[in-house]
Amino acid sequence: MDELATEAEALSAALLSIEDERSWNATVELTNALAIEQAALALGDESLVARAQLVQANMRLRSGDVAGASEQIRHVYQWAAGHGDDRLLARTHLVWSYIHGHLSDAEQALEHAVLAVELLDENATRHMHIWHRTKLADALWAAGSMDQARVRYQQAEQLAVETGSPALLCLLNNYAFTEFDTGNQKRAEQVADRLLRLADERGEKLEPAYLDTVGWIQIGNGRFDEAEATMRLCIERHDEGRYDAADALAMYLLTLARAQRGLGAYERAQATLDESRAMCDERDLGDLLVRVYQEQAELHAARGDFAAAFTAHKQFFTAYQNRHSLRREARTRTRQAMFETDEARQEAERFREQARRDPLTGLHNRRYVDEKLPALIQSDPSLALAIVDLDHFKQVNDRLSHNVGDQVLISVADLLACGVAAACPDGFVARMGGEEFLIVLPGAGLNRAAAVLDGIRRSVRAHHWTPLTHGLPVTVSIGVAHVAEDPAPTQPSLLSTADSRLYAAKHAGRDRVVSVTDRREHSAHASAA
Ligand code: GH3
Ligand code: MG
Ligand code: MG
Repeated sequence: MDELATEAEALSAALLSIEDERSWNATVELTNALAIEQAALALGDESLVARAQLVQANMRLRSGDVAGASEQIRHVYQWAAGHGDDRLLARTHLVWSYIHGHLSDAEQALEHAVLAVELLDENATRHMHIWHRTKLADALWAAGSMDQARVRYQQAEQLAVETGSPALLCLLNNYAFTEFDTGNQKRAEQVADRLLRLADERGEKLEPAYLDTVGWIQIGNGRFDEAEATMRLCIERHDEGRYDAADALAMYLLTLARAQRGLGAYERAQATLDESRAMCDERDLGDLLVRVYQEQAELHAARGDFAAAFTAHKQFFTAYQNRHSLRREARTRTRQAMFETDEARQEAERFREQARRDPLTGLHNRRYVDEKLPALIQSDPSLALAIVDLDHFKQVNDRLSHNVGDQVLISVADLLACGVAAACPDGFVARMGGEEFLIVLPGAGLNRAAAVLDGIRRSVRAHHWTPLTHGLPVTVSIGVAHVAEDPAPTQPSLLSTADSRLYAAKHAGRDRVVSVTDRREHSAHASAA
């Protein structure tokens, strides 16, 4: 037993170290999360399974499998929502926000980012409090609300400073970048300065990506010499290894070329830009190549070579349009794939649900009973069930109309459903056919079941039927069976007991509940109005 608990703890810790990270090697962590899921399944620990699946969804997204990620996340969401696991739910909304961000759907991304913060409670980790606020700020910026984003960045920054969180540098990088992107040069510079100072105080080397942000901000403020130095340091750090995506170096070279152009060092700028372009060609970095063309046009223009600038600009424009439509097509395809699986699933779900409902009353039907009841009988020794049959229902049809008969059935169904919901929320009512219903009361015990059912019987009788039946009374007879009294309880044996007691109730004069079999006389223990 202890061993199992220890293993679950180890798996949980392994998951936590992936969950509370900010950047991952997606392939490695996907493999890890799959292995953790297997181990969690072997332990029968659903919570660990769901957590491992969320990590997988996140890693799939980062490997470009957006459809796979969204498929998986829905599953995790259902589990987390169904089990009231707010910590997992908060994490789920964050990854969902990433997915929408990936599809350039800023509004949906924001909605999920809001939930990812709203669901934070005392069970959330410190990292979540900081990081979820940071990502909410990112999403607010992407949706065009830098003012609101700033409030969230500041909250996150304060929390991160207080707790000495390693996420602080990353959040300051995002904060600085978004201020810069929104055109707030001064603010961007202030945040970038804090970023540099903090890295210094903590004796940490800033990651090249953060230095790139700082470089851009320095360029924006006309501090080209500082920017060139920053970008040289950035490229040096990149060359030291361990960081960065495939397009990172080409991007840093582009920033460096931009700084050099600002300095008026056109030869250096051209050489740097050529290096970046070669890298784009070699690695097929289409998006970045567009920006290289753009910078090339600017560089020609700065030199006064306007004909060349114009040619480069045209090249930029064509490439830009191509990339744009390619991206849009890819997004449409992904959305389509997501939408189709979603639609198909909903359709199947609807069909499944419909096939288990009675169309007239909306109650469950016999098929549903056949699926659910056997397991309930096996697992619950205090389960009671009852067959409810309308009394002299033929008369309703004959004297009034078949249509009124239908209305009566619908009303009786409602009365039964209400009675069961009030007395036994785990129970259910099904229409077995015709004017016959089944009531299932898990955990009720025979005496309580008899009392509940008699209450239901009385509620049918007391219902104000006049507008519908013009004085013809509507009553029901009920036969009850109980698992505990049956030496070998099965669905057929219990239904048969209930049915013979229903017959006894009819025989004894109808409008009553019979819950005991009396061998001498059917009417014993019947409770009548
Ligand atoms: P008892 O008290 O012995 O149960 O008498 P009863 O008239 O209710 O019993 P019987 O089984 O003879 O008649 C049941 C009637 O229910 C016959 C059938 O026309 C009617 N019925 C069955 N299904 C429906 C339905 O969906 N709508 C309507 N309006 N009537 C139905
Ligand atoms: Mg009948
Ligand atoms: Mg009947």
